[in-house]
This record gives sequence, structure tokens and C-alpha cells, in this order.
Amino acid sequence: MDSLKSKIVIATGGGGGIGGATCRLFGARGAKVAVFDMNLQAAEQVAADIMAQGGVAQAFKCDITDRAAVDTAVAAVEATLGPVDVLVNNAGWDVFKPFLQTVPAEWEKLIAINLTGALHMHHAVLPSMAARKYGRIVNIASDAARVGSSGEAVYAACKGGLVALSKTLAREHARHGITLNVVCPGPTDTALLAGVAEGAANPEKLIEAFTRAIPLGRLGKPDDLAKAIVFFGSDDAGFITGQVLSVSGG
Ligand code: NAD
Repeated sequence: MDSLKSKIVIATGGGGGIGGATCRLFGARGAKVAVFDMNLQAAEQVAADIMAQGGVAQAFKCDITDRAAVDTAVAAVEATLGPVDVLVNNAGWDVFKPFLQTVPAEWEKLIAINLTGALHMHHAVLPSMAARKYGRIVNIASDAARVGSSGEAVYAACKGGLVALSKTLAREHARHGITLNVVCPGPTDTALLAGVAEGAANPEKLIEAFTRAIPLGRLGKPDDLAKAIVFFGSDDAGFITGQVLSVSGG
């Protein structure tokens, strides 16, 4: 039997490109999927897609920057689907701008979504995983955290923080049977990438430059990422923790 059968999965940003593909793949593998997003309509669409394929899913409106909203949504998942086995911290946001043109209000928004939001989710879910001695956490960072990316300084700093957080929590919670791993997308064909490109003088040229720099010669697709994320969320990856995997075409 698939080790994901009937596992309870929360994926934040589940209404988006990579999050949506991840939720659909978890659903197809028999998991019960809680699709978290601040955009409820997008989350509902993904949940409906999973149910149309015979899976089990429910959409939850949740702004991960709001701790009270996170606690309410996690409690609702536990009440309706059951205790959380797998958490995918995927919600994210980016702006493309040289650092010296950015202002503190933008840093605060980037940090709130890309780092503090993930802290809230870990803090909300880890106690019950630890009590049950089981958990899989997959954090979605970025190759920007590993090699840097001009125009994305604060975003890259947040994602670097997420990598360090994951490695540290992997050590703290190994004895509780919880694994934490990181998937780093490279440029991937989603709304987020389109939004980043809009920040450039010539969006098309930026996408062309990103694509040229990818050895395998194309942008990532959400499904490319979903396969790695679902692997780390499954028992096939049960002896892997604290690791960082780029899924970026090389
Ligand atoms: P996307 O824009 O398609 O999806 C992001 C989702 O997150 C959206 O549905 C959005 O509503 C949701 N979201 C944003 N802020 C939220 C909040 N405060 N609370 C709850 N939900 C929120 O983007 P994507 O490309 O699928 O991004 C997924 C992850 O991959 C992000 O963490 C992103 O940083 C990372 N990533 C993407 C790329 C890329 O090129 N697309 C590259 C590197 C890393």
C-alpha cells in the first residue's frame, strides 16, 4: 500500500502553481489534503480538482502571517481530517528589485510571508507531531538561497533563513520521528515567476535569461517540483532529514 494512503497533509500556498501541483499529487497518492491559501477561491479549485479525481481534500482560508488564523485553520484540519502527518511550507511571495531600491515595508512583507509565516506553521504543527512521534515537513526555499540572485536580496535572505531553520529543526526533532527537508526550485513557470518578471525593465528578456542559465534548457514546471516534495513527504524518504535538494534543471 502507498505509504501516503490516508496521511493528513497540509500544504500552504496550495492554491498556487507549485502548491497546487503538490496537493494534486498528494491527493492522487491517497493522502487527505488540506489546501491552505489566503486566496480561498484558488484553494477551493485545487480541492475540487482532487475530489473530482476521487481523492479527499478540503480548502482552508489561511493567511500564514497571522498566527491566530494559522492556529484556527490547523485546529479545523485536526477536527475535520485528523492529526497532521505532513506539512509543506510552500506559500511565498517575491519582488524583483535591486536591494538599494527596496524599502523597509517591502522587507517586512517579504519576511512576514517567506519566513515568519513558516515559523508560525512549524510552531502550530510540531507539538502534535512530536507527541505522536511522526511527522514529515517539507520546506520550499529557492536556489536564490544557495547561490544568490540579483534583484532578490531580501527574498534570498528569507529563504536562506528557511534552510537554516529546517536544518536546525531537523536536529531538534529527529528524536520525535520527524523529518524536515528542503526543496529549492529554480525558475518555475508560475504566477510568482510572472510577477518577478514584471519587476524587470524587460520581463520577456528576464525570463529568456533565466531559461538560458538552466542547463536542462527549460523553466521548471510545477509538477517537476511536486514529485520531489511528495517524495520527502512520504515514508520512502523516512531516513533522510536536514537535506536541501535543488529541483532546477541543473
Ligand atoms: P504562486 O504565486 O503560484 O503560489 C504562491 C501561493 O502562495 C499563492 O496561491 C498565494 O495566494 C499563496 N500565498 C501568498 N502569501 C500567502 C500568505 N500570506 N498566506 C497564505 N498563502 C499565501 O508561486 P509558486 O511559484 O508556486 O511558489 C511556491 C513556492 O516556491 C514559494 O515559496 C516560492 O518562493 C518558491 N519558489 C518559486 C520559484 C518560481 O520560479 N516560481 C522559484 C523559487 C522558489
